[in-house]
Amino acid sequence: MATMIIEGERAKAVSGKTYEVRNPATGEVVDVVPAGGAADVDKAAQAAAKAFATWSKLAPAKRAEILHKAAHHMLSKVEEIAPILTKEQGKTLLESRLEAQRFGENIAWFADLADKVHGQHVSLPDTTTYGLVIRMPIGVCGAIVPWNFPLTLAANKVAPAIAAGNTVVLKPASTTPLSTLACIEALIEGGLPEGVVNVVLGTATGEAIVDHPLIRKIALTGSTPTGKKVMARAAEGLKKITLELGGSDPCIVLDDADLEAAAKGISIGRYFNCGQACLAVKRLYVQDGVYDALLEKLLARVAKLKPGNGLDKASRMGPMHSETQRAEVEAQIKDAVGRGAKVLFGGGRPTGEEYDNGWFIEPTILVDVPDDARVWKEEVFGPALPVRRIKDLDEALRLANDSPFGLGSSIWTANMAHARRAVQELEAGYTWVNALQIAHDELPFGGVKQSGFGKEHGLEAYNSYTEQKSVVYGGV
Ligand code: NAD
Repeated sequence: MATMIIEGERAKAVSGKTYEVRNPATGEVVDVVPAGGAADVDKAAQAAAKAFATWSKLAPAKRAEILHKAAHHMLSKVEEIAPILTKEQGKTLLESRLEAQRFGENIAWFADLADKVHGQHVSLPDTTTYGLVIRMPIGVCGAIVPWNFPLTLAANKVAPAIAAGNTVVLKPASTTPLSTLACIEALIEGGLPEGVVNVVLGTATGEAIVDHPLIRKIALTGSTPTGKKVMARAAEGLKKITLELGGSDPCIVLDDADLEAAAKGISIGRYFNCGQACLAVKRLYVQDGVYDALLEKLLARVAKLKPGNGLDKASRMGPMHSETQRAEVEAQIKDAVGRGAKVLFGGGRPTGEEYDNGWFIEPTILVDVPDDARVWKEEVFGPALPVRRIKDLDEALRLANDSPFGLGSSIWTANMAHARRAVQELEAGYTWVNALQIAHDELPFGGVKQSGFGKEHGLEAYNSYTEQKSVVYGGV
């Protein structure tokens, strides 16, 4: 049985309760884990506060050294961790390897910043005084993570937090705790001091983290409704928050685009991780002149995305993570078809014995989708793509921005004036121009509108785990 990690101890839930983690491809039990609650969050927050007293006072260069060593050790375990992620989440082994690798790389990237972020020296009107602006860690930070990219999204929070001298109470989604535990375990084996990162499990622990008085900042990745609840609740304690929420990223393909590159980008962008990605091509707008040609190329790629158990080398797309998630996407497809949309590809469940016990779904392309269909208005968190013919960039931009979300966006065009307009006018935290929808460590990442606020990745993320303090030295 797996345990939580609190002050380096392998802890059971105070209540003694447990629950099962199941494999979305087979329904089999992968492991039994503690069902933590508020009492466990309290233990973890106390442990993190205790560790903060020493971790925050280490020389930043020493913290960087410890984190590099820990990340290096964790990275030596990618091949052990990847199958754990596949078994609990469903994604293919290739996707799991990439993700586990990203976890370690993210820790190392922020470790590099630990001793390189500086404050400021400020001249003051009285020349016998001067000012400094220094950066201090915040204290204990809460990290609440969803199930779609359990490791990447945990690292996005843990890495900048601990590099900046904070300590963390981390809560993975209840259905994907095992690979997170394995990563944190590997960091501790690699020398991360006990109590710097504590992992609590269970369904009710998120709210307890938001409420806990010792926890000063909350970083949540999750759905927009959860973000709203967390924001309201965090207001009680006037806590700092970063909210990375839902998205419905538009992708525009214009007549002069490189269609082969666009089809590849769209296929990866929509179907990676079985479509369960925040940054993903979720609405496709294609200009009239290349509509048929682009769809032909896209169709050829999507036809190769064989669904299957993520552990099977032949699988190109794992199952959906849960029954509820599949039912949601199926209902969105049904709604579109009911309103007159045509299914160009997929639209159902793959058939055969290997699919009987998992939450499999076919990669799906929908065309002639009416404007009032749910797939245009809601986030589609699965492998279904609505496509719409557009006459020009004006129409594409109007439709693209007609969404409550503003996470990612992309455009494929050879016309740089059109690209520039799209960059300026698309309401989103990220715009890719003729490029795969990949988030980079170096670039701040975060949404606008109902996709949340605050940044992960980049210097901005590091700074968001610090407080600026002004200091005046007199009599000098
Ligand atoms: P979710 O909102 O249901 O849960 C996310 C996490 O929040 C889980 O750990 C959950 O236990 C916890 N939680 C739920 N209710 C809570 C509450 N009231 N207080 C505190 N914690 C609470 O999301 P999900 O279904 O696990 O993930 C899918 C969603 O996440 C999608 O909407 C997706 O777009 C979004 N997402 C966003 C990003 C991004 O960076 N913007 C990345 C990945 C996923």
